[in-house]
Amino acid sequence: MNYPDPIKNLIDNFASLPGIGQKTAERLVFYLLKKGEQEKMIEFGRVLANIKKITPPCPECGNVSENGRCNICSDRKRDKTTLCIVAEAQDIFYLDKTGVYNGIYHVLGGLLSTADGITIKDINTEKIMGRILRQHVREVVMGINPTVEGESTIIYLKKTLREKFPKIKITRLSRGLPMGGDLEYADEITLSSAIKNRSEI
Ligand SMILES: [Zn+2]
Repeated sequence: MNYPDPIKNLIDNFASLPGIGQKTAERLVFYLLKKGEQEKMIEFGRVLANIKKITPPCPECGNVSENGRCNICSDRKRDKTTLCIVAEAQDIFYLDKTGVYNGIYHVLGGLLSTADGITIKDINTEKIMGRILRQHVREVVMGINPTVEGESTIIYLKKTLREKFPKIKITRLSRGLPMGGDLEYADEITLSSAIKNRSEI
């Protein structure tokens, strides 16, 4: 027997999310059908429908925000002369949770990747350079995963930034991170020491 269309539709929607396979999607839908409270489901739908609209990227750094500039860019206690470049906004949360880094961030929004068709044209280095100049940045930290894509992005950024700012300090997270792994999978102690022991490149 096939699922009725509305149920199949919801299952397909869940199954399109990362980490959720067909079986899990089916389980979630049948759980909602059986146990979901109408009011909570309406609220869930409302949050889902608006989440992108109400959290636009911070115009400064690309982090998620609620009202224009993000919490980190508007925090006066942050050291604006240390700039950590990350691949995705999510990485800011992993790195910042460690509490050992007090600088600011910059979200690339993707790494150089032939598979995903991301080329140097898609990496907005002008914006990074503008921030370096405006905020008198002294150190740029490559807060990027040590994957193949991560390594080529680090090499490209280092070369480009070095040409324009010959004296700026450029560092990267220390090697102890799982090779080829995402920051997401590194535990907090490993991440803390990766930032603390960052080395110049
Ligand atoms: Zn920001």
